[in-house]
Amino acid sequence: MLKVFKLNTGEEGFYNITSYVRQAVNESGVQEGIAVVFCPHTTAAITINENADPDVTEDLVYAFDKTFPSRPQFKHCEGNSHAHLKSSCVGASETVIIDDGALALGVWQAIYFVEFDGPRERNFAVKIIKG
Ligand code: ZN
Repeated sequence: MLKVFKLNTGEEGFYNITSYVRQAVNESGVQEGIAVVFCPHTTAAITINENADPDVTEDLVYAFDKTFPSRPQFKHCEGNSHAHLKSSCVGASETVIIDDGALALGVWQAIYFVEFDGPRERNFAVKIIKG
């Protein structure tokens, strides 16, 4: 089962999409398997991180900016190579175990769509695999 969700992002940041992934799991009826969450964009990403203290994801945005600043030497005509760099480093997907019909996330974990070049109209896919 494949489900595609739309997401309108704002500025660069972390968007908690855990509830969307849970919805896909529930609709699938799968009790044991995996959920693959995939981002089909080159300046955004999918990751899992802290869900309790919002300062964590703000710190990550700050650290990504410090680590991958825009540089005048970049050749890409769109001017967003720093966003492409961040996208590749974080990655396009995450895989989460489905156990007893629920996502086997840690208590402090959430699944995030990470926008590095917003605001944009985005989407992400969730594939539920029984097994
Ligand atoms: Zn670009």
